[in-house]
Amino acid sequence: MPFAARQRPRPRSPGAILGAQAQPLRPVHSPGPPRHAALPSSSPKLPPVSTTTPTPSGLTLEPGVPICQTDLPLDWYQDELKPYAEEYLALPDRTPESVLPWLDGYVRPAQEHFGDSLLLLAHYYMGGEIVQLVERYGGAVADSYALALQAARNPEKKVIVESAVHFMAESVAILAHDDQDVWITNPKAGCTMEMLAKDHMVLPATDQLIERYGDDLLVIAYMNTSGRIKSIAGSTGGAVCTSSNAHLVVDWARKQNKKILFVPDQHLGRNTASRLGMDLDALVTLPDPSVHGGNWTLDQVDGGLAALDKAEMILWGSSCGVHTIFDADMVRWWQARDWRVLIHPESPLEPVLAADGVGSTKYLWDQLLAAKPGDKLVIGTEGHFVRNARREGAKRGVEVRHLAEIPGRLSGGCGCATMSRNDPPHLAGMLDLLRRGEAPSLNHVLAGDAVDERTGRRDRLSEAERAELIGHARASLERMIEITEAG
Ligand code: SF4
Repeated sequence: MPFAARQRPRPRSPGAILGAQAQPLRPVHSPGPPRHAALPSSSPKLPPVSTTTPTPSGLTLEPGVPICQTDLPLDWYQDELKPYAEEYLALPDRTPESVLPWLDGYVRPAQEHFGDSLLLLAHYYMGGEIVQLVERYGGAVADSYALALQAARNPEKKVIVESAVHFMAESVAILAHDDQDVWITNPKAGCTMEMLAKDHMVLPATDQLIERYGDDLLVIAYMNTSGRIKSIAGSTGGAVCTSSNAHLVVDWARKQNKKILFVPDQHLGRNTASRLGMDLDALVTLPDPSVHGGNWTLDQVDGGLAALDKAEMILWGSSCGVHTIFDADMVRWWQARDWRVLIHPESPLEPVLAADGVGSTKYLWDQLLAAKPGDKLVIGTEGHFVRNARREGAKRGVEVRHLAEIPGRLSGGCGCATMSRNDPPHLAGMLDLLRRGEAPSLNHVLAGDAVDERTGRRDRLSEAERAELIGHARASLERMIEITEAG
């Protein structure tokens, strides 16, 4: 049964807005039959190489400096990976001098075994020294957009191993060629923003909005969504966006006079609306998914149906806990001391408006590389990224601080805890098990996989369902690429 046809609207109880717990993994609502051409394509359209090629981070492992990675408890590892974790935990310390020889013992044989067909990937936000470790073994480090393109762009790579969160690995799989396999070192590495926009939450909302607005509704899915949500966007004629091109994608939708459902990050949606000069009072934010899941009806939305009818853009209510801690007072505190403040647009509107520069992780890193000796930069984003930026800045005579690192404040800013669930034992174990032909199926990532980040339970689509999902999801990614390149 095709992906869309298998999903059926479930009965909704008006007023059952509370108690949205323990939702099933299976999608139970349908975005309806595709109202626009699905456009499955055997090979995805890709943007120019120059705009999406990962560039070396420039970071290096310092002798004697311990790997900054909190050890995970042994029972957090899959059974197959526990032996590697036990060995790692038994090392005398976490310095490169101890960790690297141990890691080499597993990574080098895997590299020799797979040769040029192996590709290692990691995201800039990775905790510990995974960024440096992956680069040390010839892998690529990039933002989520560039990562998503790496399988499609490198057809000679057949075994792709990603140390990042699940939606990133799934994006690689959506755009991969048929003979490429994508693996994630820890399938429980999720993104909290994405976890609050699962298809069983978003589909009921989309169903209701489509029922009311028909073809006028268009879904824009931020890159930080599962393939199932990207597929919903594609089925409405919508597109994926990233933090660097959200303004282009939203502008494209506005020019078609569409009512936009922006999923999942309410802050990126609001910041984009502000950048485009939209009426912010006319935005509607849907009920908090951490409280209500997808169990609500349109008349229960803040402002009711009248607000929804008036809204040019409707925001899903999710956000990233790492970025929501920032406020405008923090920005002004640093500016008053002559620091230049740069911030990621997953942060709330007020600090974004107050900052001196706003942009994606790539923008933030490029700003660091362009800074002159003596410059003082404050960066509002994920903690591991800022720590890496601080080390890189020190080499260039540029001072770097984290936006939340203000004396007297309780929080000095945090790293992405879920992404940090990828650590040296996960990397060593995954590569060794792959070499031996014993890699756990759970770590194999296919488009449409839905993983419960707490239990590791996975729901996998049938081949026919997956093919349909890939068609819609690729269409939404390809629209983003076309819009971005045209912009
Ligand atoms: S930093 Fe936030 S948005 Fe990025 S992966 Fe982590 S939880 Fe998700």
